[in-house]
Amino acid sequence: MSSQVPGGLPATGRVLAEGVHWLGGCLSASAEGQEVHYHVSSYLVVGSEASILVDTGDPAHRDAVLRQLDHALGGRRLDYVFPTHPEIPHAGNLPALLDRYPSAVVVGDVRDYSLHFPEFADRLQAKAAGESLDLGNREFRFLPAYIRDLENTLWGHDSAVGMMFVSDGFSYIHDIPAPDEDDEPVHLPGQCRLLSSEMPAPPSVEQAAYGTGRALYWTKFVDVGTAFQGIEETLETYPTRLIGPAHGNVIDDVDSMLKTSLAAHRRVYEGQEL
Ligand SMILES: [Zn+2]
Ligand SMILES: [Zn+2]
Repeated sequence: MSSQVPGGLPATGRVLAEGVHWLGGCLSASAEGQEVHYHVSSYLVVGSEASILVDTGDPAHRDAVLRQLDHALGGRRLDYVFPTHPEIPHAGNLPALLDRYPSAVVVGDVRDYSLHFPEFADRLQAKAAGESLDLGNREFRFLPAYIRDLENTLWGHDSAVGMMFVSDGFSYIHDIPAPDEDDEPVHLPGQCRLLSSEMPAPPSVEQAAYGTGRALYWTKFVDVGTAFQGIEETLETYPTRLIGPAHGNVIDDVDSMLKTSLAAHRRVYEGQEL
């Protein structure tokens, strides 16, 4: 991207299903004169007894995320904050969130967080893949991150809606105008809160490969076939009708996106990405 400013901010969140809110903003970039967007999303899951925020959003969007969150909680408490891994777009708003919601605790793979945030060392609760939180009428389960850039990354799953939160997985970065005029970057201003099936066209394998090869550089060297087998087994155990990436539109056509993503990873591995 040639520039990034926090200008591409969707004003409001979107309720994806009962108790599940899509929050956060977009970074705005200019690609050959055309404005394109890059999601930095958070998701709020509200159960009958407890609530959890998945990823904190980017500090550039801090005030907006807090405002969206307040609105989505509608007076409820925030009980858990789950940064999927300790990078700025995923964990950067942690201090602001913990200040704002004094009863909230941080959950997930929290190793080393006490070094980043010594003032919150007593509010860290380690959760391993396979463990879950009882939110009342729904369960939030921590899953292995099959596609990730940092070792201490976890994914999550909400049992009530059947939604999987995949952090840097399934991230499509459409930061170039595609070579073919008909093949527009998939995430343009105005498309920030669209589900994948609501987009004008699903991402092509080429677009998915472009994002994959750059954001997750190691995938050039590792055959992700095993990871996808793990993902498919997880989807069988935990039925999933929505996938929420941190950096892409929410996916509601799960089967076809899995195929596109796997094909993209294969292409990157075989060295054929754009
Ligand atoms: Zn990320
Ligand atoms: Zn956007």
